[in-house]
Amino acid sequence: MITIILKYCPGIKALVSPKIMIVKCPYCGGEVEFFEYEIEAECPDCGRIVRREPSEVCVSWCNMADKCIDELEQKGIIDKTRAEELRKFMWRFKRRKS
Ligand SMILES: [Zn+2]
Repeated sequence: MITIILKYCPGIKALVSPKIMIVKCPYCGGEVEFFEYEIEAECPDCGRIVRREPSEVCVSWCNMADKCIDELEQKGIIDKTRAEELRKFMWRFKRRKS
C-alpha cells in the first residue's frame, strides 16, 4: 500500500516517516528537534518558538496535498494528530503565498 503511494507521490515519504532535524536555538543555544516538514517548533529548554527555513516539502506546494493527507489518514498510514499537523502546515503555506 505505502509503496504504491510513494511511487505516485515521492514527497509523501517526508510525511509518513519524517526525518528529524536538529536546529540550534538562537535564544539559549539548546537543541531543538524539527520534523522535516515543520518550520517552527518550541525549544524544550527555554520554551521560545524557533523557526527555520521552510524546506521543499510537497504539502507546501502540491495542489493535491489536502486530498493526499485525507487518503493517508483514511488508510491509517498517518494518525489523526499527524494529519492535523500537516493540514495546519499546508494552510500556513497557502496563506503566505496568497
Ligand atoms: Zn531555547
